[in-house]
Amino acid sequence: MPEQAIRGGMARSGPKMPTTPNNRRTYIRRTKLFKVVPAPELLSIIVAVRNKIGMLEAFRKGCPGLLPTPHSGHKHRTLARFCCWRAIASLAGARYLAPVNSGAFARFSEAEAPPEPRPQSSPRVIIGDAMRRSLGPCLFAASLTLASFGTSHVTAQTIDTVTTTLLSDSRVMAALDAIKADDARALKEQIRITEIPAPPFKENVRGNYILSRFQELGFKDAVIDAEGNVIARRKGTAGTPKLVISAHQDTVFPEGTDVTVKEKDGVYLAPGIGDDARGLAALLSLMQTLNTQQISTVGDIMFVASVGEEELGNLRGVKALFRDNKDIDGFISIDGLGVTRIVNQGTGSHRYEMIFKGPGGHSFQEFGLPSATHALGRAIAKISELQTPAEPKTTFTVGTVSGGTSVNAIAAEARMTIDMRSNSTEELLKLEARLLDQAKDAVGEENKRWGSDKITVEIKLIGDRPAGVVAEDSPLVQATARAVTALTRAPHVTFAGSSTDSNLAMSLGIPAVTIGGGGQGGNWHSRNEWYKPVDAYIGPQNALLTMLVLTGVEGVTKPVLPARH
Ligand SMILES: [Zn+2]
Repeated sequence: MPEQAIRGGMARSGPKMPTTPNNRRTYIRRTKLFKVVPAPELLSIIVAVRNKIGMLEAFRKGCPGLLPTPHSGHKHRTLARFCCWRAIASLAGARYLAPVNSGAFARFSEAEAPPEPRPQSSPRVIIGDAMRRSLGPCLFAASLTLASFGTSHVTAQTIDTVTTTLLSDSRVMAALDAIKADDARALKEQIRITEIPAPPFKENVRGNYILSRFQELGFKDAVIDAEGNVIARRKGTAGTPKLVISAHQDTVFPEGTDVTVKEKDGVYLAPGIGDDARGLAALLSLMQTLNTQQISTVGDIMFVASVGEEELGNLRGVKALFRDNKDIDGFISIDGLGVTRIVNQGTGSHRYEMIFKGPGGHSFQEFGLPSATHALGRAIAKISELQTPAEPKTTFTVGTVSGGTSVNAIAAEARMTIDMRSNSTEELLKLEARLLDQAKDAVGEENKRWGSDKITVEIKLIGDRPAGVVAEDSPLVQATARAVTALTRAPHVTFAGSSTDSNLAMSLGIPAVTIGGGGQGGNWHSRNEWYKPVDAYIGPQNALLTMLVLTGVEGVTKPVLPARH
């Protein structure tokens, strides 16, 4: 087993370490103070540690830092992010660990000769060259993060350092604990919110409740804007950057839907309980914690409970938000549940209704007139042959079809609805242009077939969600991923595409992600929607940590989110 594999080669104490690199190397070899731990073995140890104590606990035990290995393979990098070197050494009963190998765990060489050991026998870790760049800053985290860094220098390493610094700050840790302690209350809040109906375009009752909660939590100046968004502002010490953190008020359920929450064996059932009552509850828990723990950020934060996220709401809430607030530098939406899934791609969609119209007539007596259903059929035949790229994923479908009045009548009218989606605005627009041309061509062909000009098509845009992608190496995405890996035991984060409030920010070139509110659930957009509060507090904890990394904490860290202005 991994623990045994390294124990033999480790010394708990030894003579004083020589100071010159060459002497150190000889000393290391002779004393066997270090053992060469091959990468696969080391990975097993990392996994063992991660499973044993979890990342957050490792930090509590005084871990000096996390180690990303930015130039190594994905698997190694991810695992290394979870590892706390001090905890590993401690678990191994070791004073030093020297990961050595090619690949993720680089050669041990002079350049990595360890510094003077500390006088006490506390475990200490040294690392290979691929990691040196990372550990160095971790050890000097405080001085680095308080130094100013320009936007162009916000790297994964900087974000690691900032995260590490925040996680060693007592107030931040107290805030994370407070969120955990707030778990049961947050669930009650989630149930309360779920039971206030919020049908599309009719979110106002829920909106008024959210406004009253914002005010009770100390945000006296919270307002409902003209569109229906509930907005609270929290000033930072520098007033820049400005980050929005939001969840949506609306559900897909029409007026009159029974929204009573029913509990069975720890599972809560109600339409909208997860989407997005959980996001709103997480947002409120986060706001409460910031105020009660008196955490002062450097950048400004806007808390938003948005309207019109679902379906034909077409993101009307965030459209108004970004129209009225041109100075937003970053956007986070809490929507969905899974914390390890980060939505950094906004799938855009355009939806159309097409209404084909013609003269209509008796199928036998007036044979020779063009038909609306035939024109529609021609259009579908053309559309179904369209080719779209697999990457960026671009899709289309004719969703519904209706038309005609009788089996023995030439149809006077036929309708269809079409959904087109893409992760790229350019591809979406290309697809749209071709598809609309085909509908018009179909009309021309049907008219030509019967020597007529009577068939027409009316084309209505019924859905418009812009597309956008935020690069995985953008500070906002990196900060989110880093918070997730620090707070959970998941081996990696998943980057995904979805259609959420973040789409709008992404389409404007403003970095945005959608993150989960915590817990488990399913049957989205159905009356059987369910929610199970398993480790639900990790949702708001993750949102808090991500937010603090991005906005900076006064006297502790600088903001990581670049200001756009
Ligand atoms: Zn949602």
